[in-house]
Amino acid sequence: MRKYNSRKRILVTGGAGFLGSHLIDRLLGRGDEVVCVDNLFTGSKRNVEHLFDNPRFEFIRHDVTFPLFIEVDQIYNLACPASPVHYQHDPVQTTKTSVHGAINMLGLAKRVRARIFQASTSEVYGDPSMHPQIEEYWGNVNPIGQRSCYDEGKRCAETLFFDYHRQHGLDIRVARIFNTYGPRMHPNDGRVVSNFIVQALNDEDITLYGDGQQTRSFCFVDDLVEGFLRFMDIPNDEGHQYGFPGPINLGNPCEFTIRQLAELVIRLTGSKSKLVFRPLPLDDPKQRQPDIALAKKMLNWEPRIELEAGLKRTVEYFERELSSAS
Ligand code: NAD
Ligand code: UDP
Ligand code: UDP
Repeated sequence: MRKYNSRKRILVTGGAGFLGSHLIDRLLGRGDEVVCVDNLFTGSKRNVEHLFDNPRFEFIRHDVTFPLFIEVDQIYNLACPASPVHYQHDPVQTTKTSVHGAINMLGLAKRVRARIFQASTSEVYGDPSMHPQIEEYWGNVNPIGQRSCYDEGKRCAETLFFDYHRQHGLDIRVARIFNTYGPRMHPNDGRVVSNFIVQALNDEDITLYGDGQQTRSFCFVDDLVEGFLRFMDIPNDEGHQYGFPGPINLGNPCEFTIRQLAELVIRLTGSKSKLVFRPLPLDDPKQRQPDIALAKKMLNWEPRIELEAGLKRTVEYFERELSSAS
């Protein structure tokens, strides 16, 4: 537990969301103070309600597309709807959140000289023609498609982070996050892990988009958050004036087809659900797998939790959620 004089005051935007709430648990657990900023678009107070009695926790309902003036030592910028269903609901707002949100948080970081982390995404690689994806790959992104509000918004945010770094000497950390799952995923966000688990627990059909042969690589949330902290904690004095800005891939390199995922979820839940096939959404990437050599080298980090173990914990969470809702 950090002492008062080594304790940091840390802003987490998007802190009431899936990843943000787990990150906050870890930061508070090690003794830091946390200000959670969230407009509750896709996040929920329920994800952080267990923290409201903690004197080191503060919640501010605020939209990051508007300026924010507070005093903090570090910023984790996670605010942005992450699932295709959510980010396509109001695509203009999605781009604003990524771009105006990044400008405001970078402006804040510049004023208070705070280190700032950006939750970027594997979507900057688009439908990749290089496999697995390394950080040097520039991506294959459609600039005018249904996913572009998210993909291009996140790409522009990366540009802004690196320009503030070069132009204003800002201490930045840009992580490209690959598909992550775990407790507190939104049950209706349309993402594959939450969809399949909820469908399986309700004995409903499991909806495979396309032929189910497209691949993803799934990282359990606890592993990912450990990567965030290691990345953010690289000091500035190890051969880099500003620590290590990234970009760095964070994700689990174990790759599965979507069909394999469906079959595993059925087995773990003992469900009677059947597989059904639905049309593949436009621009749906065919394959995705992070190359994490850089994270291994720079952070001495790699995921530890295997898909089956992580899914079991996620299934337990959704079982509790569904039984408390009924
Ligand atoms: P999430 O939707 O659960 O969380 C996002 C949070 O941001 C929500 O609480 C939402 O209310 C908040 N938010 C959205 N717009 C906002 C705004 N304008 N102002 C303030 N708050 C706003 O999603 P998540 O899975 O926790 O993702 C967190 C971050 O990680 C996102 O930036 C996402 O792009 C990135 N990411 C996630 C994944 C993944 O697999 N979960 C993969 C790649 C990148
Ligand atoms: N900003 C903010 N909080 C701060 C400082 C700045 O929200 O503590 C916003 C500010 O409103 C501006 C943006 O961040 O729109 C970028 O700030 P910067 O200083 O880089 O640019 P400028 O103010 O010169 O446009
Ligand atoms: N998917 C699916 N059935 C679902 C939800 C998603 O087959 O009910 C597929 C989707 O088409 C994609 C993959 O699962 O190929 C991952 O989808 P998700 O929305 O979770 O994330 P992303 O496409 O952003 O990686």
